[in-house]
Amino acid sequence: MTWFKREKKSIENPTPADERRVRTEGLWTKCNACRAIIWKKDLEANWEVCPKCDHHFRLDARRRIDLLLDDEPYTEHDPDLVSTDPLHFADTKPYAARLTEAQKKLGMADAILTAEGRLSGRPVICCSMEFQFIGGSMGAVVGEKVARAIERSASTKKPLVIVSCSGGARMMEGAVSLMQLAKVSAALARLDEARVPFISILTDPTTGGVTASYAMLGDLNIAEPGALIGFAGPRVIEQTLRTKLPEGFQTAEFLLDHGFLDAVVPRKELKAYVAQALGFFLDSA
Ligand SMILES: [Zn+2]
Repeated sequence: MTWFKREKKSIENPTPADERRVRTEGLWTKCNACRAIIWKKDLEANWEVCPKCDHHFRLDARRRIDLLLDDEPYTEHDPDLVSTDPLHFADTKPYAARLTEAQKKLGMADAILTAEGRLSGRPVICCSMEFQFIGGSMGAVVGEKVARAIERSASTKKPLVIVSCSGGARMMEGAVSLMQLAKVSAALARLDEARVPFISILTDPTTGGVTASYAMLGDLNIAEPGALIGFAGPRVIEQTLRTKLPEGFQTAEFLLDHGFLDAVVPRKELKAYVAQALGFFLDSA
């Protein structure tokens, strides 16, 4: 005697699961911090900050410029500089193919934008990094665009603002990427001599060679709340030091407490904060 019997024809879905999912896909997103389900439009209107818990999502490079610069046309510099793939590098796919893919998807030639415009009425040069472009990595193009932005700042005396969002140097360009650290740092030393202020804004994540060069060389180094900032990843450090790292290690708040940053500023206050800082640097001089 059978007590239970599995019906062969169980409850059948009128529509397959895949089809049902399609309708809502892309409209909603889940907050990584508070797990709230947020309507994407709400998140977008709130500059990608969770309306429930203030968690800062990543903001793309162009919207970052919109956030910081005044609502008027700005000039974009060096938009056509492209990498030449000097090593003909290939990992799971050729670097050249990765580049073309990212360029098509994002409508940018590389992982950074340089804009010249005004911030609260004050002329500035503003660079903004794009994480979606091969992890916001710094190769020859990013390095060159940053160096040119610095030189432009020095010659025009317009203050420089760089928003970092990067996994570090671009390994597909090997030593060419690493040379950018020295080049950009030397250019910043000249900017310092020219007495033009540079404000560095570190967003989630800012790591590797970008932290090890311009991101930490600002006259003011400001981070967004909760941003991951570091050089090597925590796993590498733990394995090297053979110790457990403290809670919150490599977050913006931890670095502020330990004197590595000047301020942690929420995204919505960022523009006003930078404007005030520039006023302090320039108007009191
Ligand atoms: Zn949230």
